Order: sequence, then C-alpha cells, then structure tokens
Amino acid sequence: AEEVLIQTKKLRAVGELAASIAHEIRNPLTSIKGFLQLIKEINSDKDEFYFDILEDELGRIEMITGELLVLAKPQAKDFKFRDISKIIEDVIILLGSQALIYKVEIQKEIMPLPKIKCAPNQLKQVFINLIKNAIEAMPNGGKVSVNAQLLNDHTINIRVIDQGVGIPKEFLDNLGTPFYTTKEKGTGLGLMTTIKIIQEHKGTIDFTSDQNCGTKVEINLPLNK
Ligand code: ADP
Ligand code: MG
Repeated sequence: AEEVLIQTKKLRAVGELAASIAHEIRNPLTSIKGFLQLIKEINSDKDEFYFDILEDELGRIEMITGELLVLAKPQAKDFKFRDISKIIEDVIILLGSQALIYKVEIQKEIMPLPKIKCAPNQLKQVFINLIKNAIEAMPNGGKVSVNAQLLNDHTINIRVIDQGVGIPKEFLDNLGTPFYTTKEKGTGLGLMTTIKIIQEHKGTIDFTSDQNCGTKVEINLPLNK
C-alpha cells in the first residue's frame, strides 16, 4: 500500500508539471497554426505536401498537450449526476468507424445504471482511451467486449476485453508510465490520464493481460447517492 501511495504521489507531481508545460505550449501553438494556415493560402500548390506534414505534426502536439491538460484539473468540484451507460454507448458509436477499419466487432452488454456524480467528459475520455487501445491491439481484427453492470449496491463495474496482442509483462508492472508507446502514432499518455481520472472518481482500475491472448481492463466506480 505504501508503494501505491508513493506511485500516486509521483504520478501527481509528474502530472502537474506536465500539465503546466502543456498549458504554456497551447497559446504559441494556436498562433503557429493560424499563421501556417495564412501562408498556406498564399503559397503555391507544389508546397502543399510540406504544409500537410506541418499540420499533421502540429496536430500531434495538440493531441499530446490536450491529454496532458487533463492531469492538471482537479475535477471533483464540478461533478455532475450522469448516466454512465449513456456515456459508454456514445463512445462505442464514436469509435464505430475505427472498429470497422480494423475489422473489429464491438460486442456490448450495457445494463441500465443509476446516475453517478462524475466528470462526464473525463469519463468519456477514459472509455475512448480504453476501447481505442483494445481496437488498436487487434491489427488483424477480432472482438472487443464492453460490459457495464451494477456489481452490488454501491459499485458499478465496467470491463473492456480484447483478443489482441497483450501488454508486455515489463510494462504491465509499470502501467501509466508517461510516453510509453508501442505505436507509431501513439502518445503513450492515454493510460496515465485514464488511471488519474479513475482515481479522481475514487474508483479502481485493473489490467490483466496475456501476450497474444488479449487484455482485460476492469473498472469499479463507487455509487454516490
Ligand atoms: P498509446 O495508445 O498512445 O500508445 P496508451 O497510454 O493508451 O498510449 O497505451 C500505452 C501502451 O500500452 C500502448 O502503446 C500499448 O503498447 C499498451 N497497451 C495499452 N492498452 C493495450 C491493450 N488493450 N492491448 C495491448 N497493449 C495495450
Ligand atoms: Mg491509447
């Protein structure tokens, strides 16, 4: 338990630093994007290729700073009563086209749930991260199951299970390490922000993974009536 506490404190310190840097990067980034757009309009077509690369790369910086900013805000103050099953259903629709591209079938079993006090946009981000990771773990297609149910009188249980490549053992012990990614276009920040958001909701998140068999992510969230 002591180790977990140190881990949490470390995560918070790293998160706060990262978020303040991300915040500072945002403003210059916005003006760079604006001027790039301007130069692009007055330039010849032959340079379009370079502009596309510039825009792509700026998009990546934006994605990374966006994810880091999640770490900054202590959200608990503006928690609202929301329907988690609705949030999950929305995310599944949102990721439908990506699933199709990967030939992944999303099987859902989502029970009606009582509303809980939460930061809906942050939880949405959690489910996007987890279901996206599940899809991306199956380059040759497969099945992702998403289950949500009432575990007992005070706990909501959510599971995302894939049949993908699995998480390497070394990383499984260090989940949430920032910038660890095995993907060409990954940020390696999704799991860190996910863990942080679930902690802020006083929930738990557990990963079970077998290489080449798949990964199960299980979240328990307390009901706060
Ligand atoms: P990203 O998706 O941008 O790489 P994440 O923090 O979401 O960053 O994930 C970090 C790494 O953890 C991934 O690059 C991948 O190697 C591993 N990972 C996460 N989820 C899964 C999963 N469901 N199956 C296999 N590997 C996973
Ligand atoms: Mg991810």
